[in-house]
Amino acid sequence: MNCSVSELKELLGQYEHILLTAHVNPDGDAVGALAATGEMLRAWGKQALIVLDDDVDDKFEFLPGIRTVYKPDDVKTDASWLTLILDATGVDRIGKTAELIHGPLVNIDHHISNAHFADAEYIRPDYAATGEVLTDLFTQWGCAITPSMANALYLAIATDCGFFKFSNTTGHTLRMAALLVEAGAQPNVISEHLEAQSLVKLQALSEVLKHIDLYGDGKVAGITFTPDILQYTGEHTGGYIDYARTVKGVDVAFTVKYISAEETRVSLRSKATDVNAIAAVFGGGGHIRAAGCTIKAPLAEAKTMLIKEILKAL
Ligand code: 5GP
Ligand code: MN
Repeated sequence: MNCSVSELKELLGQYEHILLTAHVNPDGDAVGALAATGEMLRAWGKQALIVLDDDVDDKFEFLPGIRTVYKPDDVKTDASWLTLILDATGVDRIGKTAELIHGPLVNIDHHISNAHFADAEYIRPDYAATGEVLTDLFTQWGCAITPSMANALYLAIATDCGFFKFSNTTGHTLRMAALLVEAGAQPNVISEHLEAQSLVKLQALSEVLKHIDLYGDGKVAGITFTPDILQYTGEHTGGYIDYARTVKGVDVAFTVKYISAEETRVSLRSKATDVNAIAAVFGGGGHIRAAGCTIKAPLAEAKTMLIKEILKAL
């Protein structure tokens, strides 16, 4: 059921215990949305627990709101707990945290591929980030946005629209960001934290760049994360796809990453082609210009299947 802004506030107000979660492999939008919502709900006097079936990348640790994150096995819930899923399209995207859902389920999201699965939902595919949806909601609800909430929400918005460079950046996105800066968000501090990396990680980039391959007359660029390359980069490979995307003439960029002998993780970005539709072929989703999926096939085979679908879609 799609809720109005006021219905959503009323519903959250009725529950004392709130389990907050977001998608596995949490990105800046997921992490920032969780940190800000956790703080907002605690200010309302709620017990709000953030649970993630994944580790949070160290680069987000400067957000105070994300320092206490539980794993699903550490938490017990019952039917008195409301579960609020942020920035995720379905229960299949939150891993083992799904086992903790016993009471009402609420979803706040901005993905076009949202599965409309919750008892109550507020979905805005016209917004660039869940952080943008929340900034709008908190403002309409009359909640005070503290400097730490503002930082978390600004980070959420900025990371999902490529720091206001992607096509999902609208006047509304910029207005919400401006409002957050006025509430105490520090764009320079956020950029410094997100850009800072160890020398080892920076040097891994040179190794990754050597492995960008072109397909489809140079309209497609892909990076293959074999177990060998993953030794250089570590598990958090999220940022590398943007380098493939910037190659002149490239429309679709992809990464394929070894997970196991039978499983391959895929990320897709584009300038024009609908990559949500490509990800959907393999049971994934996301947005028109940024999507992902997991293919149940070995790395080389998954890559061949993916390239075939990309070339069809161009
Ligand atoms: P990323 O490539 O950064 O993992 O994901 C890009 C976008 O697609 C994100 O908004 C993410 O939430 C979404 N996405 C990634 N993988 C999946 C998936 O397997 N299923 C769905 N529904 N969405 C995904
Ligand atoms: Mn998002």
